Order: sequence, then structure tokens, then C-alpha cells
Amino acid sequence: MVRHRVRKRGKYINTASALVLLLLSIIMIVLVIRSVGSFTDPLAPVSKSNSTVPVKFRIVIDAGHGGKDPGATGASGAYEKESNLSLAHQVNEILDQDPMFEIKLTRTDDQFIELEERAELANEWKADAIISLHGNTYEDENVSGTETIYYKEDSIALARALQNQVSEALGTRDRGVKQEQYIILSTAQVPAVIVESGYITNPSEEEMLLSSKGQETVAKAIHKALKKYFNGKQPSHQTMSSPDNEDQQMIEKTIYYNGSDKDEKQVALTFDDGPDRIVTPKILKILKEHDVKATFFLLGNKAEANPDIVKLIAEDGHIIGNHSWSHPDFKNLSAVEMKQEIENTQTLIEEIVGYRPTLFRPPYGSLGKDKLEQIHEMNLAVVNWSVDTTDWSGTPSEDILELVRQQLFPGGIILQHTANGKNQLANTIEALEKMIPELKDKGYSYVTIPDLLQIPAYQSE
Ligand SMILES: [Zn+2]
Repeated sequence: MVRHRVRKRGKYINTASALVLLLLSIIMIVLVIRSVGSFTDPLAPVSKSNSTVPVKFRIVIDAGHGGKDPGATGASGAYEKESNLSLAHQVNEILDQDPMFEIKLTRTDDQFIELEERAELANEWKADAIISLHGNTYEDENVSGTETIYYKEDSIALARALQNQVSEALGTRDRGVKQEQYIILSTAQVPAVIVESGYITNPSEEEMLLSSKGQETVAKAIHKALKKYFNGKQPSHQTMSSPDNEDQQMIEKTIYYNGSDKDEKQVALTFDDGPDRIVTPKILKILKEHDVKATFFLLGNKAEANPDIVKLIAEDGHIIGNHSWSHPDFKNLSAVEMKQEIENTQTLIEEIVGYRPTLFRPPYGSLGKDKLEQIHEMNLAVVNWSVDTTDWSGTPSEDILELVRQQLFPGGIILQHTANGKNQLANTIEALEKMIPELKDKGYSYVTIPDLLQIPAYQSE
């Protein structure tokens, strides 16, 4: 065998020795990086737990009956199982658009499933709630109204939230919440309720419940009730806080959708995709006029082009968060690409304003679970929103205001944009000027994301 020789630093050594040296250098470098890394952020010591953290509220939607079990027969002769199923699809469609929720349906077509099995699906998935959709019946067709049924104590609050929203939205008689020992409710180990939107034996209620308008109304009411109910809560399937995790300045290994509703009525305004030279200065002016502090999730490439605007944002006392370098969908990135998108933006913001953000918002709010863990390793808090104004798409300002009225609860985070929108975001600006005083009148105070979530604003050096 011929021994290969390599020339290194003026003398000959054999390949094996060269490899050993190389390996040793790599180990040294890794050790140095790790020891430096462990001191990068004493203010925000993220829990060392490596457990995986699912991040959305998990909701099981159950369309009552199905297959050989048609349920009740309505005034028109239609089977209950059919309207339950189409309502379940409608609810799924609406909840699925909300990044706060993750949905499973017990059935997606006309099949028979045992009641225990439906509840077990929620138990095994560690769902945050299971909602079973039914229509009510009575021999007297004049009887009407909405009612919600629970069995276990832990389900009362959810039942009340749903009952209030659904009966209010439909304008039906409010029959209240009732405790009954139904199998699906007693088998479920998570909050479980049966929503009976109306009486299918009552001709006019049946007509409403079979109509797409009626179903949309119920689905939206369920969405609203769930947002209200889960506001300020954390998904139950995420890791339990370890004892050393009780410090209030701790970044939690989760995705934040909102803050607490416990203290006062707080709301955080957030503006994404900037800075630009047209919209951002206008937004800054409005915020200054109303003495409101907000949070700006900036793109690295825009910040690089407009460093003076980045400085203005910081000088006005707003908080800057990282929104990636070029706004890719993180689900399509490799781990290396993702780190570059984040790290390059961190470095640039530090160069411009002198500190590194603690906050990160993934473009489109989109992130896989593995990537979430990697971002938490970088000592960043991942922050999405509870109210999406959809302003970028040109949603008229009146509709934006209505969305906020419908979806904002204390502790909420509102998503708006300062760039990448239609018509130079004239709608955003118009809506903002009305929204700020309107919410103030409702008793809201404006806070930045770090104040809302009680986490540090910037990483220390
Ligand atoms: Zn964005």
C-alpha cells in the first residue's frame, strides 16, 4: 500500500495524522462556540428542556351521528347526520384559517363511528377541546332555541362561551347550558361539549340550519367563542413549565398568539414586512400623534435598504422584531437556510440600532415543529397574532375595523403591515387612525409585545 503524503506547514506528515489534527481542531472550535453560546443571553434563559412542543390549540370537531345512525329526522324530512356533517366541514374551514387552531374531524363523510371512539380521538391527540355538533328535536314543532350540553366541570366555561356566541349570532332562544351524562362527554378527558344550534323539528330553525348562511353563522360564532375561550390560555399539550421556568422574564417554548387577559385590557399592535419609505413613516406619524408604542417585525432586506427608517422606529420607542431576511415560507427551507434568514437579520438590526431582537415572527406565520425548536435554541420568542386584519390584500378599512371588533379580546395581538400591500396600504392607515381611539374608548391600553408577554425586548450581548 502506498502511503499518501500531504504537505502541511513546511513538513511532511501522513494522512492519518492530518485527519486527527483536523478532527481535534473541529472539536476545539465546537467547544469554544458552545462555551461562548452559553453566555449569550443571561436575561432570557430559555428552558433547557428538549421536549417537543406542539403549538396550536387542538380542536376535535365531531359531526353527530353518521352512517347507519341518521340521527333525528327534521321537519323537512332531512336527516340530522347530514346537516351535522356539513356544519362540521364549515367549522373546519373557518378554524383552519386561524393559525391559533389545529383541527381534527371525527368523520369527514357519512360513516358510523362509536361515541367512545370519537372521545378517544380527542384523548389520544391530547386535544384542547372536543365539540360535538347536533341538532335538537322535540315532538312539538313549536319548540325552538339553542342549547349546549356539558358533563364534566372542566367543560362548563367552554359550554357557556359557545352557548352565548351561537345563540346570539343566530338570534335564537337562549336555552342555556345543561349538564347531561352523554357517553361522548363522559368518555372525553378534555373539555367536551355538545352544541345543539337549534331544533330541526322546528321548520324555520331547520331551514336556517340547513342553509349555507345559517351554517356559516354558526361556524363563525363557534370560531369567535373558541378565540374568546382560549384567549390567555396555553395549549394543554405543550411541555409543562419546569420549576426554574417561573421567572416572568422567560421566553416560553411555544408560539405566542396573545398575552394574558388577566390584568388590564391590553392590546399590542404589530406591523410586518417593513420598513419601506412610504407607508412606515406614515404609520410612525400616526402612532406618535396618539402616543402609542407598537412592535415592528422587519425584513432584513428592507432594513438594509432603509436603515434610516429602522433608526426612526427605534428612536420613537417602538420595539423591533425579526421577520426573516427575505420573507420565504420557512416550511420550505433547510435548517441552514433558515438560520441564515434569521441570523443575517439579527446581525443587521444590531448593526443599525445596537441590539439584537428577542422577537421572531415567521413569514405567513408558517413554521414546522422542528424549526420551532431550532428557533427556540436561538433564544428567540416566536410571536404570531390573534387578529389578522388581512390589510395586505386590500381589505377596506371599515372591514378591518369590524374584524378587530369581532376578534379582539384583552391580551390580543393585531397583525397589520407597513409594506407589501395593495394601494400603498391606504386601508391600513385609514383603519389605524380610527382603530386607535376606538379601542382606547373601549378601555384598551396599547403595549409592545415584550410588555404584553412579559419577556425581554432585546437579547443582551
Ligand atoms: Zn410578513
